[in-house]
Amino acid sequence: MPGRSFRFARIAGIPVGISPWWLLIVALITWSLGASYFPEEVPGLAAPAAYALGLGSALLLFASILAHEFGHAIVARRHGIEVEEIDLWLLGGVAQMRGEATRPEDELRYALAGPAVSAVIAACFVALLAALPQSSPPVLTALVRYEAYVNGAILVFNLLPAFPLDGGRVLRSLLWRRSREKQRATRTAASVGRVFGYVMIALGLIAFLDNDATGLWLCLVGGFLVVASGAQARASELTGTFTGVRASALMSREAVSIPGDMPLEEAIERYLRPFHYHAFPVVDERGRAIGILRVDELEAHLSRHETAALRSTRVGRFADLDEALLIEEDADVGALLSTPAFARVGRAVVLDGKRHPVGLLSITDVEAALRFRTSDDGSRLGMRR
Ligand SMILES: [Zn+2]
Repeated sequence: MPGRSFRFARIAGIPVGISPWWLLIVALITWSLGASYFPEEVPGLAAPAAYALGLGSALLLFASILAHEFGHAIVARRHGIEVEEIDLWLLGGVAQMRGEATRPEDELRYALAGPAVSAVIAACFVALLAALPQSSPPVLTALVRYEAYVNGAILVFNLLPAFPLDGGRVLRSLLWRRSREKQRATRTAASVGRVFGYVMIALGLIAFLDNDATGLWLCLVGGFLVVASGAQARASELTGTFTGVRASALMSREAVSIPGDMPLEEAIERYLRPFHYHAFPVVDERGRAIGILRVDELEAHLSRHETAALRSTRVGRFADLDEALLIEEDADVGALLSTPAFARVGRAVVLDGKRHPVGLLSITDVEAALRFRTSDDGSRLGMRR
């Protein structure tokens, strides 16, 4: 996903993040509503008022999208799927789940929960529009009409059967329920998603050549669908392959731990120079893992602001302390692969019962296992199921 999001709130225990791209979208919506929609709907409206209304409408839209994502998140959580974060970005919102549904019925419910919220919001605005008396101020009518329209648009767009949109998830869950084969259902739904993506790109290009600038937007959405459906299909394949495989069966055992309170200078001399690893578990004074130090991240950080003070700083300050990156020996690799934290970092520290690091499991280990897997069940590599 382009641009790192920053967290701005925590609602119902779920962190909410905003991508810098989203701010661009709010600015674009404010501009287009303030420059054309409101002045056309309400003749004689002063420009500052039109832009203020544009911004207000954009923020209301933002609240609607958040409500849609919370619809997904709350239903998912009720079915035992943990929700890591809700992100608002270029094309709306996304609820980052930790893990996937294990039953098609659960996926069907949480895929429909978001559109259900949008449908209720759209219906409320439509009802409000109908209930507004003739004498009500035209700005209010224009605002309510816009919100009814965009929520309706969000509903229709998300229900397109184009995986990974909500409608595509509905399609996958139905195929999955019928065939009982999740991987195959995912492949089919992803192919349909890809076709939708290409059709959108083609329609967008036609519109653009016809001097309609919104065609570019359609191309962008289509491109997103093509890329995302492919990525989801691959991720799902990988998750399916490694479900039931224990972390200890795939991890690299030669992990070297660094004490978190060691000054960085010393850690570089004693650990980073002699051992050419990409990552090191970081431990507390009793040898228990507290995080993971990524060498590439550290290098990037030091190249940006290297100072003498930084070099005497304790190593622990540079470690990634995300709890999701500390896993037990019998953790399920399939489940790990579908966590956003592992997708972000690409490695995790494997711990014994006393939380002492016993190894590191990286995406490279997983890929190697995939490459050398025997045709049947991978038993030659000792991938215990
Ligand atoms: Zn949705």
